[in-house]
Amino acid sequence: SYRMSPLHFFFFPMMAQGHMIPTLDMAKLVALRGVKATIITTPLNESVFSDSIERNKHLGIEIDIRLITFQAVENDLPEGCERLDLVPSPVLFNNFFKATAMMQEPFENLVKECRPDCIVSDMLYPWSTDSAAKFNIPRIVFHGTGFFALCVAESIKRNKPFKNVSTDSETFVVPNLPHQIRLTRTQLSPFDLEEKEAIIFQIFHEVREADSKSYGVIFNSFYELETDYFEYYTKFQDNKSWAIGPLSLCNRDIEDKAERGTKSCIDKHECLKWLDSKKSGSIVYICFGSGVTFTGSQIEELAMGIEDSGQEFIWVIRERIIFKQENENSCLPEGFEERTKEKGLIIRGWAPQVLILDHQGVGAFVTHCGWNSTLEGISAGVPLVTWPLFAEQFLNEKLVTDVLRIGVGVGSVKWEASASEGVKREEISKAIKRVMVGEEAEGFKNRAKEYKEKAREAIEEGGSSYYGLTNLLQDVSRYGTKID
Ligand code: UDP
Repeated sequence: SYRMSPLHFFFFPMMAQGHMIPTLDMAKLVALRGVKATIITTPLNESVFSDSIERNKHLGIEIDIRLITFQAVENDLPEGCERLDLVPSPVLFNNFFKATAMMQEPFENLVKECRPDCIVSDMLYPWSTDSAAKFNIPRIVFHGTGFFALCVAESIKRNKPFKNVSTDSETFVVPNLPHQIRLTRTQLSPFDLEEKEAIIFQIFHEVREADSKSYGVIFNSFYELETDYFEYYTKFQDNKSWAIGPLSLCNRDIEDKAERGTKSCIDKHECLKWLDSKKSGSIVYICFGSGVTFTGSQIEELAMGIEDSGQEFIWVIRERIIFKQENENSCLPEGFEERTKEKGLIIRGWAPQVLILDHQGVGAFVTHCGWNSTLEGISAGVPLVTWPLFAEQFLNEKLVTDVLRIGVGVGSVKWEASASEGVKREEISKAIKRVMVGEEAEGFKNRAKEYKEKAREAIEEGGSSYYGLTNLLQDVSRYGTKID
């Protein structure tokens, strides 16, 4: 059976936290099922993986890391700029993608040397479809998003419903979906809007072409979460798909939950102690992932919104969250920290997110709707306050608010890859209160808890995602025999 065969998977994630973290989890997951896993990355990103790999060795999880030099300076990027969220300005994204494309040759040399049975590569490496084809092995795409977002994006691509409205703020219905999903033009990316001169248009155009030529797509999701969209997706897509998530749930021990991607800037025991001292479900956790930036005045508005809500909180303020400003402290309203000393914990830097979310003290999560955060919130069974900013976050929001009905939006309407602003304190505080207090909040909580249970069942032996992974492994081993 496949279990006995020495399958070897290559994992090649984009250098961004939201891509590397779930990829490491995927590698652990397949390694636990007897597969040899190799992660390919660049020298400055090695530490994202190595500590956790070291820690998991005693579980019999063997994961190799192979490094490829990243030509940052050669592409006019600052030295050491080996991660998407370290690119200093959106103007330089194209340089970053050029630098990633230069990894193709060294990557193919690795493939030639190791002869893996398949390549699981990031959607943002469209050229890896060719690399795989050269060696007659399957390329499997990892998008790092769910079925829902891909279905909505596909319908927009095919039907161009944004052409039916005459203003940017008017809503249109995305046609032919299982639910009535309404969006505005302002919530769409330049790719969706077919702005052909935008850099992102060209990149995503290639991504889409390469996707269609790949063997299949792995989803960090589970069947019970997106049933209608899982089925919808498999109808319009010719290649294979496997749902094997939520990937974060493969981390059971406290270290693995705490140290995801980057070392937390707060001692995990200190954080847990603080949470232990709080009432069950009383804390609002606020964090916007790794790439989002706000204007200083938006940070100030958020602080006042949190304070107005009257709720206790943990607020993660990443170093680079404020656009074009040196001193982040200056953006918090005067006296905010002093006034909220008893009520809030501010984490300046990288937080142990999964550990926090899984603590029973947490009652809601204010999120930018990055897919990992969304799914981690769902897996923890907490209602979400959604505040999407860019990428496919506006689509993820709709899944949360309109399909699953486990959250409320703050009314963020503008897709903006640089610095976001414009959400008012009243809207923030209102959304927080709606998921924390009253009858409506009970509904959100109950539904969220149901998805938490379903998520756990999905990854257990006999569950849908466990089965998804079994299928994936079987498909890859059969692919091998066909070629031989
Ligand atoms: N994360 C974390 N600590 C932080 C911020 C983020 O552990 O302080 C993790 C989070 O748990 C998630 C990932 O980083 O796994 C962020 O991915 P997501 O898709 O939510 O957002 P992105 O950073 O890609 O925008």
